[in-house]
Amino acid sequence: MRFLILSDIHANWDALQGVVRHVRRKRYDRVAFLGDAVGYGASPNAVVSWLHGLGSATEIVRGNHDRVCSGLDSGDYFNRYAREASAWTLDRLEEKNLEFLRSFPEGPIEISPDAAICHGSSFDEDAYIFSVYDAEQAFESLPNQITFFGHTHVPTLFTRRAENGETTLRARLLSGRRTVIDLEPETRYLINPGSVGQPRDRDPRAAYAIFDTDSRRVYLYRVPYRIATARRRIIQAGLPPVLGDRLLHGA
Ligand code: ZN
Repeated sequence: MRFLILSDIHANWDALQGVVRHVRRKRYDRVAFLGDAVGYGASPNAVVSWLHGLGSATEIVRGNHDRVCSGLDSGDYFNRYAREASAWTLDRLEEKNLEFLRSFPEGPIEISPDAAICHGSSFDEDAYIFSVYDAEQAFESLPNQITFFGHTHVPTLFTRRAENGETTLRARLLSGRRTVIDLEPETRYLINPGSVGQPRDRDPRAAYAIFDTDSRRVYLYRVPYRIATARRRIIQAGLPPVLGDRLLHGA
């Protein structure tokens, strides 16, 4: 089984199209989406319809922006730009898309016997996994070998391995056009594939991953897309221009 792993699309239709074009030459059976379909970007209806159109070939968990932009949560804790964008999104989402967005379940959910997906962390969908301390808490709260997470918009790998009675936890930022992770049986993994629609690791290219459960490999990719178009859509929509500008820098 091969999963296409997508996270944090954030209503960026152009970035999603870049990924879809790139992945066309690769085989995958199911899509696993780690949350935040909307918020920040100017194409919420196109992105949510696309996800909906995948039908039963998907595993989905909700993100914090999915909750706020669909009116399930107030978003009082959002910064000014995120709040403006969520009000704009709620206002424009078509009824069927709103309904579908509201149906996204809270993570974590299992996608294969040894792998799960969540938005923030395995014990709290809104928690960020930035440090090895955050990762340790996530490892402790969920028993499965591999967990894919999003929310930080930074492609990251945490590994945990017990050797000679000692536990070693390692963190690695994943950069570059293509990264391959060979999954080893005695190691546990927390993997953030990065963000499709609003990367924050200073690489503006869209990020996604493929998880192959048979070859025990995870591939991470970065793909160029029409960033200028996505930025223009944001500005023309009357959303805060800073949300378009940040796409240029991957920040
Ligand atoms: Zn996000």
